[in-house]
Amino acid sequence: MTSQRTRDRLIQRLADAGIADQRVLEVMRMLPRHLFIDEALSHRAYEDTALPIGYNQTISQPYIVARMTEALLNGGVPQRVLEIGTGSGYQTAVLACLVGTVYSVERIKPLQDKARGRMRELKLRNVHFKHSDGSFGWPEKGPFDAIICAAAPEQVPPELLAQLAIGGRMVIPVGGEEQQLRLVERISEESCQQQTLQGVRFVPMLAGSIR
Ligand code: SAH
Repeated sequence: MTSQRTRDRLIQRLADAGIADQRVLEVMRMLPRHLFIDEALSHRAYEDTALPIGYNQTISQPYIVARMTEALLNGGVPQRVLEIGTGSGYQTAVLACLVGTVYSVERIKPLQDKARGRMRELKLRNVHFKHSDGSFGWPEKGPFDAIICAAAPEQVPPELLAQLAIGGRMVIPVGGEEQQLRLVERISEESCQQQTLQGVRFVPMLAGSIR
């Protein structure tokens, strides 16, 4: 069930659904998503669906990972990328294969520890982790060329916007019951441009952190 054929089928499905960036498709073809999921569910790793990873959280749907990554790369390959919500680390790994350096923030320590182990196993060395409430970003490491968010706040946190470099892009789900995936581009010191990509369903962005 974790064979290359099964993976190829998922990639074909993503391409059929409109993912056109070959860099994204090739990285997702190569990365073993089953390593990011507990063994009991790993036979479903190459279905285009979100799956539980414990602590009431989910590994994101492959289509959404592809769509968000594609949206970030559209503006050129970002060097410094901030990710909020490491979760399983799958999106983190996809980014690590495509960009300069990934700074990933997660509020649940055990999830972060597992994700860190997976990066080591896959020899992805351009990822830095922080355990904290990511709604404040990672100001010491900013500004970032790209910011990607895997949990939905009610509104774009101003702290994240402040850490986006001029010319940088952020993809972020926003809302409560009804969420929209937004692409925010920072045009200048004072202004940014926003566009809605599609309706989505992410876990909420929560305050505080858990040991
Ligand atoms: N892309 C990840 C998605 C994981 S689900 C994956 O595919 O595995 C979203 C993650 O965001 C969860 O792990 C959750 O704990 C985390 N999260 C929610 N609110 C957060 C916050 N304020 N700061 C950091 N992480 C947060």
